Amino acid sequence: MTIRPESLTVPSTGILDDARRRDDLDPLTQYARGFATDGATHLNGNSLGPPRESLAGELDRVVTAQWAPRQVQAWFRDGWLDLPRTVGDKLALLLGAGPGQIMVAGETTSTTLFNALVAACRLRPDRPVLLIEAESFPTDLYIASSVARLLDRELVAESRTGFDAYLREHGQQVAAALAAPVDFRTGERREIRPTTALCHASGALSVWDLSHAAGVLPVDLDANAVDLAVGCGYKYLGGGPGAPAFLYLPVRFQSTVDFPLTGWHGHARPFEMGPAFEPATDIEQARTGTPPLLSLAALNHALAPLVEVGIHALHQRTRELSEFFLECLAERDPELLRCLASPREADRRGGHLALRVPDADAVERALADSGVHVDSRPPDLIRFAFAPLYVTHEQVWRAVDALGRALEGLR
Ligand SMILES: *Cc1c(COP(=O)(O)O)cnc(C)c1O
Repeated sequence: MTIRPESLTVPSTGILDDARRRDDLDPLTQYARGFATDGATHLNGNSLGPPRESLAGELDRVVTAQWAPRQVQAWFRDGWLDLPRTVGDKLALLLGAGPGQIMVAGETTSTTLFNALVAACRLRPDRPVLLIEAESFPTDLYIASSVARLLDRELVAESRTGFDAYLREHGQQVAAALAAPVDFRTGERREIRPTTALCHASGALSVWDLSHAAGVLPVDLDANAVDLAVGCGYKYLGGGPGAPAFLYLPVRFQSTVDFPLTGWHGHARPFEMGPAFEPATDIEQARTGTPPLLSLAALNHALAPLVEVGIHALHQRTRELSEFFLECLAERDPELLRCLASPREADRRGGHLALRVPDADAVERALADSGVHVDSRPPDLIRFAFAPLYVTHEQVWRAVDALGRALEGLR
């Protein structure tokens, strides 16, 4: 089914004209035409956004020009074997990391986090605590809990402010502290630099889950001296359903780290097929087994325009779109601003913001019927994500218009 925007109600002021003028003035608006949005407004890029129009052609090329004619030889002749690292180095440009420090091994974020957390705890063998933010994404809580049981450590889950206080008071006990630069519910930011510095002051390792930041927020991994990081490939990075996750391991740990997932692709000489595992001495040791090539190719294709634009311009565009959303909300009905569950200041938010509404599921469905895709988090949150390359100011206006009508309809 093709979703077309509803015929627009004429706004009482010139704010729709204003939206169009802002889009006309911003050269990034042209990128939106390159995405297969089917006429709809996609404000759910923090879950799974639309593909680029050219993706189908790219996948067809990999299948018909590489896989079909060359089969297993394509691993060597078409750069497939190197793709986990090639894509990692592209990601490094968005994440503020030097080359050779990011691997896209082909695992889920959950598996990658397991690998990173066990490795971090093994680097601090004598420290009893694994610290995590209590508001973390569920899989992070589940994986950290399992890692703590496996390695006989104590899992300590602390709220946002309690987390820093715990590091100050008991930092010497902490092997690794896992945090996220963007809260997946409210979009609230946690600054990477001060938390990492707090970890380092007591010798703890600072591990970051970048899932809601990658591709939308500068994270400056090298400059912030982050110890380990992981993140998801299918949110703002746009890698598509089930896109593989990434892992950041800075050069300074590459000779001492000991990953628990010791698959043959992480071996120093995988094709010698020897009986004992000997890890590669560089970022290759973060690989596991044969990577999901088609998903890697899709992620690689998605990264091209993001890298071309650069993380600072991407972040700037997202800020402008989210601020414009709040302007439209205020213009529609100032009362709506009271629903904001996110910080009001753009500097304190990542790429999305959340509103508290009664019956979030029903609002999500009503918006979808108007061709506006958002996602709800039970019981009362709806999240709006402002992916920089395929969301326009005009769509933001349209989303607020549809939201206003949906809330009136549900009253
Ligand atoms: C989306 C997300 C994940 C996803 O995990 P998968 O194993 O890739 O499904 C993990 N952690 C965070 C913080 C996320 O936002």
